[in-house]
Amino acid sequence: MKRLVLTAGLLALAANARADTLVDNIKGETIAADGTLQTFSALLFDDTGIIKAVYGPRDRVPRQGRGGYQYHVDGKGRVLLPGMIDAHAHVMQTGFALLTLDLSDSVSLDDALDRIGKFARAHPDRPWILGSGWNQERWHMGRFPTAAELDRVVPDRPVWLERADFHAGWANSAALKAAGVTAATVSPEGGAIDRMPDHSPAGVLIDHAANLVARVVPVPQARDLDLALATAEADFAKRGITAVADMGTTVNDWIAFRRAGDVNRLYVRIMAYAMGTEAMAQIGGSGPTPWLYADKLRMGGLKLLLDGALGSRGAWLKAPYADQPGNSGTPLYSETQLGNLMSRAAMDNYQVAVHAIGDKANETLLTTIYDLTHTYKGDRRWRIEHAQVVDPKNFPLVGEIARAGGVVASMQPVHQTSDRLMAEARLGPDRLRGAYAWNSLKQQGAVLAFGSDTPVERPDPWIGIAVALTRQDETGIPAGGWQPQERVDRLTAFAGYTSAAAWAGFAEGKFGRIAPGLRADFILVDTDPMTATPEAIRKTRVFQTWVGGGKTYDAEPDAVVAKPKR
Ligand SMILES: [Zn+2]
Repeated sequence: MKRLVLTAGLLALAANARADTLVDNIKGETIAADGTLQTFSALLFDDTGIIKAVYGPRDRVPRQGRGGYQYHVDGKGRVLLPGMIDAHAHVMQTGFALLTLDLSDSVSLDDALDRIGKFARAHPDRPWILGSGWNQERWHMGRFPTAAELDRVVPDRPVWLERADFHAGWANSAALKAAGVTAATVSPEGGAIDRMPDHSPAGVLIDHAANLVARVVPVPQARDLDLALATAEADFAKRGITAVADMGTTVNDWIAFRRAGDVNRLYVRIMAYAMGTEAMAQIGGSGPTPWLYADKLRMGGLKLLLDGALGSRGAWLKAPYADQPGNSGTPLYSETQLGNLMSRAAMDNYQVAVHAIGDKANETLLTTIYDLTHTYKGDRRWRIEHAQVVDPKNFPLVGEIARAGGVVASMQPVHQTSDRLMAEARLGPDRLRGAYAWNSLKQQGAVLAFGSDTPVERPDPWIGIAVALTRQDETGIPAGGWQPQERVDRLTAFAGYTSAAAWAGFAEGKFGRIAPGLRADFILVDTDPMTATPEAIRKTRVFQTWVGGGKTYDAEPDAVVAKPKR
């Protein structure tokens, strides 16, 4: 018996050796374990998708065939990087945004209404017209759109359109009626109903009030979720993204991720953060799940939202909005509630990720975390999602937490350019110094993990890196960059989308760098992010995306991968 087992083991070893793949003819770049830049010219991975070796130009590379590697990928002299990681994504919403009406390119209310009417006529079978991406700021309206305006183009069916920031929704009269929202409806705590002078609902519902309508929208079926996941995965792969943090995983989302994993159809690694403590306990039970499906999926933490967003004036500020006196935004939890929810997660060793946009929300979150560090010690990596407006007075708190249990500033470079004019209007000149303050937070010891908040922004890491380096939009505005002291260096930007984003999800031992023992997640691109101009980085072309040694995207599907030699 013993002998047999031994033989089987040897056979397995031999099989592994036979199926190694060498990728060469590349200009390889990765963040090294010590945080510096490492370059390389070839890499070898085994048939379980684990990197075995990384070779410099002077290293001896094994030969193809017996005793060496079996498969060969010619990198054609291209740049090979670790797969990009989006540290703040909404996977299912990304899929649904691509499958429903997308208003993110609409330039005016009339343009949007035109698209909505056309979409409704093109989908006569859909009982609800659903969509997202609108932003009244881009329409230069100075107010929210109304139900009556929507009724003009879709009078017969409910319409529910989520704002670009997903912190408000726009309903037509049929949707308000289906939800039973009337002049008598009281705004729920942590929410607001935009109203007409006669107090009747105007059409837009903000933060928790949006649930009044959202809860009567038909629930997506399992097959809808599967399609949304597949759609999102394809979108990530073509942009060079191999892993994401899913910020707010519901139980149904999780089951869909599991369904995909069960049939080997997870093409992107998902670090899931459960939407609230209830989903957390239902998915994880007494603690984070293990890594599943060869490190493709894990639910390791909790996602909470402490406030809304600046665009819909739901972000919680210390002083009123500069463009709306009397309104300082809305906290979605009291300080006690927040502390209790975070405690519940931390005591079971879940990582905690909290959305905080306004300076009051950030201060409240930072003091709450600081208090919790006295109870929940060790390596916690407290995550602040967005950390968009932080009072410089509170910067030292970031440092305290960084030293106590680690802190992640999970930020989205493109929010800065998209929000610039809106943020200036909302905040006035005095509060801008702590807005989108990437470099300041880094200097305090926060680890910067970069992402897109997709579908709020497109999950394009290349635009993200370009913005992180310049704080300029695609037209180069403003010259010299907005609050340029908050730009980051290339290494920080590169790490923000790779090694640091993995660390932010406790995944640094799995992926995020090119190194032996880690998963072979890599991409081939045409632009070197360490030397190219930001304008060139912005237009980076992704040729191939590989996850765990398997190709998930190929811009040139006819390109030849050498067949194994016999
Ligand atoms: Zn988000």
